[in-house]
Amino acid sequence: IKEEAVQVKVSAEAAPVITVTEVKANVSMPEAAAKAAATGADGVGLLRTEHLMLTAGIHPGKFIADGREDELIDTIAENVMIVADEFYPKPVWYRTLDAPTDEFITLEGGENEPEEHNPMLGWRGIRRELDQPEILKCEFKAIKKLHEKGYTNIGIMIPLSQSPEELKQAKSLCSEIGLEPHKDVDFGMMVEIPAAALTIEDYIDVGIDFVSLGTNDLTQYTLAVDRNNEYVAKHYSEEHPAVMKLIEMTIKKCVEAGVKCSICGQAGSVPRIVEKLVEFGITSVSSNTDAIAEVRKTVARAEQKIILDAARKRLE
Ligand code: PEP
Ligand code: MG
Repeated sequence: IKEEAVQVKVSAEAAPVITVTEVKANVSMPEAAAKAAATGADGVGLLRTEHLMLTAGIHPGKFIADGREDELIDTIAENVMIVADEFYPKPVWYRTLDAPTDEFITLEGGENEPEEHNPMLGWRGIRRELDQPEILKCEFKAIKKLHEKGYTNIGIMIPLSQSPEELKQAKSLCSEIGLEPHKDVDFGMMVEIPAAALTIEDYIDVGIDFVSLGTNDLTQYTLAVDRNNEYVAKHYSEEHPAVMKLIEMTIKKCVEAGVKCSICGQAGSVPRIVEKLVEFGITSVSSNTDAIAEVRKTVARAEQKIILDAARKRLE
């Protein structure tokens, strides 16, 4: 054991950085996919769709209202295909639309968006998509189209869920359009609301292939700190013990149930936090492209520490 431990240490220092925990990329624009893939990332842990919609300049609801559903489906499919292609066969988790109303309002056809006092606590993520299932269905149809073309590496990730019922409804909409969750496509969710972290077992009972911790939102909702409000910015801390407790609980419950657990919030680029995530048993860490190399090194160090500690314990 001692020899093996020494061997692990030597190879971790000399060889290219290899980790058991996967290190993935967050991608917001298809044009950025090639650069992200070139880092050797193990997949895309968060493909944001909002920017894609925002650059299209037209409100997704306007496509539907104008009877241009097919155009919306094609726009989504074409853009997602660029990312799925760069990473194939590595997994790409497509996050369904999650733009707050104050961003949608700027788009052509966005004049009917409600003006909310606090968009961050408002009509966004899966709660909005279930109120407007036509948009969500277009997204699922786009993924189905790609699946039929052979892009079997795309997973669907549901944002901002506060109850397992939402996940159930999203899954049945997906089956309804002919794409079977878990069979044709991996189906997962983000944990961004404390309610989801606290009831993660109930989601696991409904059936999920993976979970990703959206710590940007999880932090704002746990600490009641609007992430866009500069007056309370000093109170925003991902390392707050309450946030860390929710993260730890979520990861451990997922590990227990054999559900993959990842992180795609900014906390996944903070070395002190990453060390803890690896200790808790996270299966992947997804970060912005520029941070991937450093995150990989931090993950490797954390894994090495676990191996050496275990070896030392057995020697004792
Ligand atoms: C998050 O909330 O951590 C997250 C990754 O989603 P977004 O930042 O896009 O809200
Ligand atoms: Mg979020």
